Amino acid sequence: MTLKGKTAVITGSNSGIGLGIATEMAIAGANIILNSFSDSQEDHDLAEKLAKEHGVEVRYIQADMSKGDQCRALIEQAGRCDILVNNAGIQHVAAIDEFPVEKWDAIIAINMNSAFHTTAAALPIMRKAGWGRVINIASAHGLRASPFKSAYVAAKHGLVGMTKVVALETARDPITANAICPGYVLTPLVEAQIPDTMKKYDMDRETVIRDVLLERQPSKEFATTEQLGGVVQFLCSSAADQITGTTISVDGGWTAM
Ligand code: NAD
Repeated sequence: MTLKGKTAVITGSNSGIGLGIATEMAIAGANIILNSFSDSQEDHDLAEKLAKEHGVEVRYIQADMSKGDQCRALIEQAGRCDILVNNAGIQHVAAIDEFPVEKWDAIIAINMNSAFHTTAAALPIMRKAGWGRVINIASAHGLRASPFKSAYVAAKHGLVGMTKVVALETARDPITANAICPGYVLTPLVEAQIPDTMKKYDMDRETVIRDVLLERQPSKEFATTEQLGGVVQFLCSSAADQITGTTISVDGGWTAM
């Protein structure tokens, strides 16, 4: 499959899953818009490296996904947006009665509201181009709950719900909207949870990974960013033309339980 001539906008893509998806999209020949809230030399170097390695156009556009106007500006600045991957996300873990209000607001804004703004800005561009894919990176936590992750679970369930609505509103257009629901993937977002968990349960790193993080992932293996990029590629293929409004779990069996 080739995505030559298509432009993929991937939010939160200077690290982790977003960068993994951007790389797989570039391998498939798509031009890429990388994004995060920072604007460092490293961010622009990353774009240059990806472009050189895969012979595609890559631009880094700084935009803070916690701000609605910047989400919309990202799509406007991209100019083209055939494939929109709403990936930016953050996590905070605390009991609901102790959950800091600013963390709640930031998680809901970045993990859910940003997809509303980018999708609203991208759909007219996709309709004009006559083809489009909206792919939301939700989570197993878009389908299941865990204690101490109220904002994250709420945002990801909301994102799954929004995906279904976008699918219905675009059902007669050559556009699909789906959510990918990963289980645990070893990225900086997950890495950051390990030290606190080690301390909390007085466990070593390996035990935390096996017995805490992967407790609900029956395969006992992390999903990889390459695998998630492969699923995005599949959703961009013609085999997926009639797949819309659904979730694809990449979770080693978590949500089968
Ligand atoms: P990560 O921390 O490696 O990456 C998050 C990305 O979002 C980074 O590029 C970061 O710069 C960006 N970002 C954060 N705040 C932003 C903002 N305000 N504006 C723009 N960009 C911002 O984490 P990850 O694990 O790669 O997570 C990516 C997505 O995958 C998230 O939505 C996360 O919820 C989801 N997810 C991750 C896992 C996992 O196990 N890692 C599992 C399920 C779902």
